[in-house]
Amino acid sequence: MAKVILDAGHGGPEPGAVYEGRNEKDDTLRLALAVGEILERNGVDVAFTRTEDVYDTPFEKAQIANREGGDFLISIHRNSSPEANQYSGVETLVYDKSGKKVELAENINEALSQVGFRNLGVKERPGLVVLRRSQMPAVLVEAGFLNTDADNELFDEQFDAVARAIADGVLKTLGAGSIGAQERYYRVQTGAFRRREYAEDLLYQLLGQNFPAYILYEDNFYKVQVGAFRQLDNAVRMEEALRRKGYSTFLTT
Ligand SMILES: [Zn+2]
Repeated sequence: MAKVILDAGHGGPEPGAVYEGRNEKDDTLRLALAVGEILERNGVDVAFTRTEDVYDTPFEKAQIANREGGDFLISIHRNSSPEANQYSGVETLVYDKSGKKVELAENINEALSQVGFRNLGVKERPGLVVLRRSQMPAVLVEAGFLNTDADNELFDEQFDAVARAIADGVLKTLGAGSIGAQERYYRVQTGAFRRREYAEDLLYQLLGQNFPAYILYEDNFYKVQVGAFRQLDNAVRMEEALRRKGYSTFLTT
């Protein structure tokens, strides 16, 4: 099973960036937990460096990740600029531009840009301890500028979509290579759309009826799927439950 370590940046007495009463450490924790929940729903094993308001140094965080072991470490942060409202957009930082982490960083940026953020690209930051000291491919996502109102608006109003975008970037990267491909999951698909809004309409309808639905962005389609099952029987039972509610379904792996 694929495993991902999520690191919510900063914490405890160290708030990270601060802007008009807003602390980076709170945004990063909320977002990391939301991303983790989506990944878990998609059959990914998730570990967190923190799940509450505590502080560990970036070195300790890399060590937590190394102890856990995993396919990827994703450290979640928000950016800040010297002046308020000076810049906007998302960027993802990597130790160097080699290997799977670059693909992961690009996929996350791309998915976030579809939520509405400017894509500021993938940047090398060999000096960042959390990237340098972790043994698995690691990226640090700067999910918009904390001192830019437009980015905060997007972060708050599209929060679920932001979390899903990061999860989609991870899932796309996991699905693209050999990582995590050893295990086959049966997924029940209820629709595939070119436009995210249509997929979201269906997603919310399914979630409203307590189906464990999620969106998977794959091959340029937003695929609305329900559950990921190791046993074919369980997937078939989910199909039956969905069909009783009037959904058309399609089984995929
Ligand atoms: Zn930060």
